[in-house]
Order: sequence, then structure tokens, then C-alpha cells
Amino acid sequence: MLEIKNLHATVDGKEILKGVDLTVEAGSVHAIMGPNGSGKSTLSYVLAGREGYEVTKGSVTYKGRDLLAMNVDERAAAGVFLAFQYPIEIPGVTTMTFLKTALNAQRKARGEEELDAPRFLKLVREKSKPLNVSDDMLKRALNVGFSGGEKKRAEILQMALLEPSLAILDETDSGLDIDALKVVAEGVNSLRSPDRAMIVITHYQRLLDYIVPDVIHVLSKGKIVRTGGKELAGELERTGYAEFAA
Ligand code: ADP
Ligand code: MG
Ligand code: MG
Repeated sequence: MLEIKNLHATVDGKEILKGVDLTVEAGSVHAIMGPNGSGKSTLSYVLAGREGYEVTKGSVTYKGRDLLAMNVDERAAAGVFLAFQYPIEIPGVTTMTFLKTALNAQRKARGEEELDAPRFLKLVREKSKPLNVSDDMLKRALNVGFSGGEKKRAEILQMALLEPSLAILDETDSGLDIDALKVVAEGVNSLRSPDRAMIVITHYQRLLDYIVPDVIHVLSKGKIVRTGGKELAGELERTGYAEFAA
């Protein structure tokens, strides 16, 4: 599904990623942990194709294609979904409209017919139910005045609608209450499937009490320095990141 080889990337001329190697198989959930400042968000931005993140060396192959040569829309059309640490607020755009635009942009890029309002409404209701997203929330401006848990529900709903092949979630280091953690975990767990891979990036061991990853990696100083099974989370909780200080 995803193969990252010797990835180096710079931001404002400063090298942040210093040779990341990572292989993620279809059907698996990988967690990337590591101290603050180790480059976790930078990795997710590079995979997202965000401006200002320059790849200086290495390769990223997604389903056999050169991901780095694809623009943001092509990545979305190919089934790559990225959820970011700091959700954007969009005053004046309802959550419903935002989701419809995102889904139809993906469909259009795939050469599929756009969904009309009634069909979209039916789909969004169906996907909203298990996530406890109310009609009221869908009518409010995206993320404006949302609680941490509501922001997470909107994000997971977006992911459920887009049905990505590869989902990358960069989770905030702080400020997520247990409710929000559970929303993320239930969303990730319910979307587990043999043809889908997920990467959960977190500083937070506690999230992995709810999402049990197949593989855990530790990123430190721009490189993956440890890879292990789910038991690595417990070990990191006991020892902290001291030995991997950024
Ligand atoms: P993490 O998500 O693991 O906390 P980040 O990827 O956010 O780490 O940051 C990695 C390093 O890159 C940090 O040392 C940070 O200060 C630096 N960094 C991030 N953004 C920029 C930027 N725009 N300009 C310069 N340095 C940056
Ligand atoms: Mg950080
Ligand atoms: Mg980060």
C-alpha cells in the first residue's frame, strides 16, 4: 500500500526528516509515536503534499505509484485521506456543505458522477448515525465553536464518507478528552478493512489503549528508530521518550 524509502525533507531550508523508512501493508493499522518535535507532523504534511515541505531525497510509493509526483487532488482521488492536528474552522460553510464538496471533488477527480442533494443527504445520514453526528451539527459552520469531541466526529465522518484506501491521522498532543479519543478510536476501528491501511500519528500512548495498532514505530530526530508490535506502547508508557529525546 505505502512504501517510504530514505525520505528526507526540509522546511524553510532546515532538514526535518532525515531518512524515514516505512512500509505499510493493506489491512493494517500502524501507529507512529515519538517525542514532540521529532517530525511526526512534518511526515504527515509531506504525505499530504503541503506547500513549503520540500523532499530532498528518497521516495514514497503508494499502490505502485509515485505519491510525491501526484498533486493534492490526485492524492485524494487515489484514496489518500489526511486528517490534521489542527482542524480548520470555516465560518459561513456548514459541515454538510463542506462534506458534500469534499466528496464530490473526489468523485469528480475519479470521473464519477457527483451526488445530488437528496442522494448525498441519504448517505451522510447513514454515515452520521453510528458516529452520533446530529443534524444540528451538520447545519453548523464547520468546526466553528465545536468541542474537541465534535471536531473529531466531523473529521471521522469525513473519513467515513471518503472511504480512503490510506488514512493518515495526525492526532493532537494535548487537549483531547476521553470522549474525543474514543470517537477517533471507534472511527478508526470501524473503518478497519483488508483493503485499507491506516496510520495514526500520536504523541499520546493513551489513544492506543483504544486503537490497538498492528505495528508501532517510534520517530525520533527525523528517523524511525524503533519498530515493534502493540506491546511497544506499554513499554513507552513506562519508560517515556527519554531515550529518544528529540
Ligand atoms: P512533531 O509533530 O513530531 O511534534 P513537527 O513535525 O511538528 O514535530 O516538527 C519537527 C521539527 O520541525 C521541530 O523541530 C520544529 O520546530 C520544526 N519545524 C516545524 N515547522 C517548521 C517551520 N515552518 N520552520 C522551521 N522549522 C519547523
Ligand atoms: Mg508537535
Ligand atoms: Mg505534530
